[in-house]
Amino acid sequence: MAHFGDLEAWFVTGSQHLYGPDVLKTVQQHADTIAKALAVSPQIPVKILLKPVMTGSESIQQLCLEANSSGKCVALIAWMHTFSPARMWIAGLRSLNRPLLHLHTQFNQELPWSTIDMDFMNLNQSAHGDREFGFIGARMRLKRKIVVGFWQDAEVQAETGAWLRAACAWHDAQRLKVVRFGDNMRNVAVTEGNKVSAEIKLCYSVNGYGVGDLTDSIQQVSDAEVNKLTDEYDESYRVSESLRQGGCHRKSLQDAARIEIGLRHFLAHNGAHAFTDTFEDLHGLPQLPGIAVQRLMAEGYGFGAEGDWKTAALVRAVKVMGQGLTGGASFMEDYTYHLKGPGQVLGAHMLEVCPSITEEKPSAEIHPLSIGGKADPVRLVFTAGSGKAVNATVVGLGNRFRLLVNQVTLIPPEHDLPKLPVARGVWIPEPNLKVAATGWILAGGSHHTALSRALKSEHLESFADMAGIEYLLIDTTTTIANFQKELRWNDVYHHMADGF
Ligand code: MN
Repeated sequence: MAHFGDLEAWFVTGSQHLYGPDVLKTVQQHADTIAKALAVSPQIPVKILLKPVMTGSESIQQLCLEANSSGKCVALIAWMHTFSPARMWIAGLRSLNRPLLHLHTQFNQELPWSTIDMDFMNLNQSAHGDREFGFIGARMRLKRKIVVGFWQDAEVQAETGAWLRAACAWHDAQRLKVVRFGDNMRNVAVTEGNKVSAEIKLCYSVNGYGVGDLTDSIQQVSDAEVNKLTDEYDESYRVSESLRQGGCHRKSLQDAARIEIGLRHFLAHNGAHAFTDTFEDLHGLPQLPGIAVQRLMAEGYGFGAEGDWKTAALVRAVKVMGQGLTGGASFMEDYTYHLKGPGQVLGAHMLEVCPSITEEKPSAEIHPLSIGGKADPVRLVFTAGSGKAVNATVVGLGNRFRLLVNQVTLIPPEHDLPKLPVARGVWIPEPNLKVAATGWILAGGSHHTALSRALKSEHLESFADMAGIEYLLIDTTTTIANFQKELRWNDVYHHMADGF
């Protein structure tokens, strides 16, 4: 099911001429059947494009070069139905710059016990044909995903689909522009980082703009546009009394709408799909963007508060990966704890939590913001829905990036929160707050995260693998003793792997 428009993965089957034309014809037919099954699977989010059976190094290299230059191809899926001597793959794989998935499957699910003969064996030999292909991947130290099992199995399709979602986010990162209004919140360390390193390693580019540039864009918004958007607010949310037509704060809602339209125009004009702002740099803006940021996130934009461009890009990646799935994703912050029992985290932010993570109709409210010295900002207030989620952050370690993920369970708050004027979620981290927070802090994880109810850790793991950055998971199996060792081993590994 194509959730990603034109994007496609190329299905490539390897063989050789040794078997004669009839066998190659059958191989192509079988590949066609598998590719079609993947293409219609609800688990597979992109189009599947079947390529001719590969039997020689020149055609393989040509195919890889075509994949590299295709704007639509996000990944290659390779399968060796028969035996494909792997030296013929070296030149192609050396030049390939698309993520590679090795699908270790077999056309037949069951052994035909009573009829099996050598012809059948020679055709259906991926059991060893794929081992030959696997060797060259290992020999060339290639990054690749290996999925094993029968191609019709839901699990095989789900694993392939999850990896393809990561490939789509990786594809998006190649051209992602992150707009940064102002710098980061003064003196904060974790939101700093090396933008050149990020562009080399994670591909997206981060560019600063004066908040005055945004102000210009906001001033060009017409009253008619503003009225149309405030009407939309009125219909979409439970708008509080004072913000309604004739209410004493209606002007604040209009200001918020004007900011949203100006921001939207600015991002579109600059081809950006992620952005940051900071409450310390709002010159010319009447209020800190709240509802504007929340609604742009709900449309798929990445966002990081206080100039946090690493999290903005991560929120965008998580948004892309989750396209078409239920659950949503948001910029998030571990705000405060409930330290009773196994421990709970109350996640929130000053304003900017994405309404895609709730099933309830948000209320549009206005409250004072105790910092920033601007007019009271309008924000959407709601509680995140329940269930499993992943909370992730990218850490800039100076010489490398680390993707840190914690599996969590969102729960309904034990009590109402009548005085809390911001959107929030309450969760229990795996394996418990004590271990999760210890590990997170040891790993240098930020207070800012991308929280996704739509994704599993495997999506993020695949994304980290494609980017070639460190990946650390805190889940039910985590112990601090082992996590400490993993941190130390990873330090050594990445120091050696990345060189100088
Ligand atoms: Mn923050």
